[in-house]
Amino acid sequence: MRILITGGAGFIGSHLCDRYLADGHDVIAMDNLKTGSTDNIAHLAGHPRFNFIHHDVTHYIYVAGELDQVLHLASLPSPVDYLNYPIQTLKVGALGTHNTLGLALAKQARYLLASTSEVYGDPLVHPQNESYWGNVNPVGPRGVYDESKRFAEALTMAYHRYHAVDTRIVRIFNTYGPRMRADDGRVVPNFINQALRGDPLTVYDHGKRTRAFCYVDDLVEGIVRLMESDLEGPVNIGNPTEVTIVEFAKLVIEAVGSQSELTFVIPEDERTRDDPKQRCPDIGRAREHLGWEPNVALPEGLLRTTAYFRDRLDRA
Ligand code: UDP
Repeated sequence: MRILITGGAGFIGSHLCDRYLADGHDVIAMDNLKTGSTDNIAHLAGHPRFNFIHHDVTHYIYVAGELDQVLHLASLPSPVDYLNYPIQTLKVGALGTHNTLGLALAKQARYLLASTSEVYGDPLVHPQNESYWGNVNPVGPRGVYDESKRFAEALTMAYHRYHAVDTRIVRIFNTYGPRMRADDGRVVPNFINQALRGDPLTVYDHGKRTRAFCYVDDLVEGIVRLMESDLEGPVNIGNPTEVTIVEFAKLVIEAVGSQSELTFVIPEDERTRDDPKQRCPDIGRAREHLGWEPNVALPEGLLRTTAYFRDRLDRA
C-alpha cells in the first residue's frame, strides 16, 4: 500500500511510519514541523519506500499518484501547546481534517482520524465507552482542542455518510513512549526528566486526578488493526490500568531509580482548568472487534521511555 501519515514527524506519527515501512508499505510523512521534529524520522532518511513532505495540512494538500490510506495524526495534543497555540489547534483539527478528508475522497483512500479521549471532556461516565457523548466546556481553555476533535469526528462521519469515504476513528487515550517531546509539558516527559535530573516532580493541584497510560507500540498495533477492520464508528484505544497522578509519580521515580521528591504546585496559567478528574478507557469494542488489548505494562513502558530520555539528556 501507499500510505500518507500527517503529523508523520511527530511522536505517534513517526512510530506509525516505522511500523508501516516494516510491514513493507510505501510511506509518505507530512508535517509542518511546528511540534514534530525531523529527529524522529532522521533514521528513515534515504529509505527507498519513505518520503517526507514539509507541509501544513491547514492549507490545500497536493500529493502526486495514488494513495491507499490517509492517516490524519497532525495535531497539537498537549495542553500546554493548545494553550500557547489555540487558533492553530482549532485549524489543524478543522481545516486539516477537511483537507485530508478531501484528499482521501479524491484518491479513494481509506481514512483514519486520530481523535482523542478529550472528546469525553471531564467525563461523567467511568470508564468511558464509545457511546458516551462527553462533558466538554466549549469556552474553557481545553475547548480549542476538544471541540476541534469533536468537529473532526463529525466531519469524518459526514464524509463517510455523504461521500461514502471509508473512514475509521480512533480515540487515543494518554499514550507515551520514546519520541515524546521533552518540553511538551505533559506529565510523562515532565516527570521523567525531573526524575532524571533529581528535581522534584511537579504534581499539579492535589495529584488525585487519574489517567490510564498506554505504551506507544500497543497504540500502533491497535491503529493497524483498526485500519484492517471494517469498524466505521469510533474505537477507544488505550490501556485501562488507571492510576492517580501521585501513584504515577512514584512509578516514574522507581523506573528512573531517582531520589526525587514530589512537590505539589498550582500552575499560574490555565493548564489545569477543566482538567478531567478521572479518565480510563473502556476497551470492550477494541477487544471484541479487533482482538486487541495492550501488552506493555506501565513499569516496563516507563523503563523503555526513561532509556530514551536518559539518552537524550546524556547527549545534550
Ligand atoms: N500533570 C501534573 N504535573 C505535570 C504535568 C501534568 O500533575 O508536570 C497532571 C495534569 O494536571 C493532569 C495529568 O497530569 O491531571 C495529565 O496531564 P497531561 O498534560 O499529561 O495530559 P492530559 O491527560 O491532561 O491531556
